[in-house]
Amino acid sequence: MTATMRTNWAGNVTYGATELLTPTSVDEVQRIVAATPRLTALGSKHSFNRIADTDGAQLTLAGLPPVLDVDTDRRVVRVAAGMTHAQVAAGLEARGWALANLASLPHISTAGAVATGTHGSGVRNPSLAQAVVGLEVVRASGDTARVDASTPDGALDAHRVALGALGIVTTVELAIEPSFEVATTVHLDLPWDAVLGHFDAVVSDAYSVSLFTSFDDRGARQVWVKHRTDEPAPQVDLVALGARPADGPVHPGENDTAGVTEQGGVPGPWSERLPHFRSSFTPSTGAEIQAEYVIPASHAIAALEALRPLASVFAPLLIAAEVRTVAADSAWLAPSSERQSVGIHFTFRREPEAVEAAVHRIEETLAPFDPRPHWGKVSVATAERLHEAYPRLGDFAALARDLDPTGRFRNAFLARILS
Ligand SMILES: Cc1cc2nc3c(=O)[nH]c(=O)nc-3n(C[C@H](O)[C@H](O)[C@H](O)COP(=O)(O)OP(=O)(O)OC[C@H]3O[C@@H](n4cnc5c(N)ncnc54)[C@H](O)[C@@H]3O)c2cc1C
Repeated sequence: MTATMRTNWAGNVTYGATELLTPTSVDEVQRIVAATPRLTALGSKHSFNRIADTDGAQLTLAGLPPVLDVDTDRRVVRVAAGMTHAQVAAGLEARGWALANLASLPHISTAGAVATGTHGSGVRNPSLAQAVVGLEVVRASGDTARVDASTPDGALDAHRVALGALGIVTTVELAIEPSFEVATTVHLDLPWDAVLGHFDAVVSDAYSVSLFTSFDDRGARQVWVKHRTDEPAPQVDLVALGARPADGPVHPGENDTAGVTEQGGVPGPWSERLPHFRSSFTPSTGAEIQAEYVIPASHAIAALEALRPLASVFAPLLIAAEVRTVAADSAWLAPSSERQSVGIHFTFRREPEAVEAAVHRIEETLAPFDPRPHWGKVSVATAERLHEAYPRLGDFAALARDLDPTGRFRNAFLARILS
């Protein structure tokens, strides 16, 4: 037992948890859950809000042994839920297998990423939770349960993005495919008229595309095109649209390019190209705060136009904004649930009050576009607004009450939205 992990990765949340429990086996997780009136699973601490905090105990799976069992017939990998995507990706790649997609940072825990609907980019790539084909969970009673597509009442779709409310997930089964290669090319300064006039063509032109902007007159100051080498080459001529090729590696924010995955069109394994940041590079505690809104793809152009006048509000605060696509998900609480989506993400400097004011402005501006805030990032949305944005949130709340009648896993974050 230790109480040394007191803040999240970004340092903007000091956990109020009384202790951090570090079991080393699933049996021990079960005993702890049964004996602890209030506790919350803690992943790799990369959320920016209090979703992983509690006034009880936090429990990390970091002490459990790694598991990485590849079932080549079913094309499924079973992994220990506390493993990071970097660990899972390296293990899969070494065996010739791949996940369909990854987040920008590979250091995030598998269970934590899934629990919040974390996503990468790609018009055909849903959130990482959509790759879940089964999971094992320790319920509030301390009993274990397995949930998969055969579990009644759409339970798998309820459990994909579960915000820590339905139990401690100990293993996750993820769909895999044979390993593939990706080549990343970066162009700079794609003007706004090209961004807005050719948005669908640009974001659909490769397996995974990210546009970075400050909403100022530079337009998309970086366009990252991640091309799967087993697919047709990208067709959109970004130079003809006014951009210029990057003449060396670029970082989307302000840090050293040593930390970014290889660019310059050099093919490499999916595991070393789909994240923006290298797994071998240990990011220091990030002095940043992130917010993100996932909107229907059909609103993307209007939403970007609406945000442009806020460029001067953002200027002192914004490190980078990233625009990505996310395919429709079946998970009840995925931000891209049941709709083809575009995520508009903001990495701000770690200035909580100024960020909160900016987030108010963003949420007012995006209100007409039916935004769903990312569960792991900051937002000022009321519980009522979240219920409007996430139509299955009421069903999820009822399920959480059923499975956890005494509120063992209910922290203040969940109490606000699930009551
Ligand atoms: C630098 C950086 C880059 C990021 N990039 C992306 C990105 O590209 N795309 C994107 O969508 N998001 C991104 N995020 C957000 C991040 O993916 C989410 O906040 C994610 O939830 C963090 O996972 P974690 O393991 O750190 O979870 P934590 O923050 O520790 O916990 C988050 C939630 O997961 C639950 N949880 C954790 N483990 C378990 C478990 N075993 N069982 C049940 N519940 C569990 C917690 O209880 C909590 O509800 C980024 C964040 C950072 C800091």
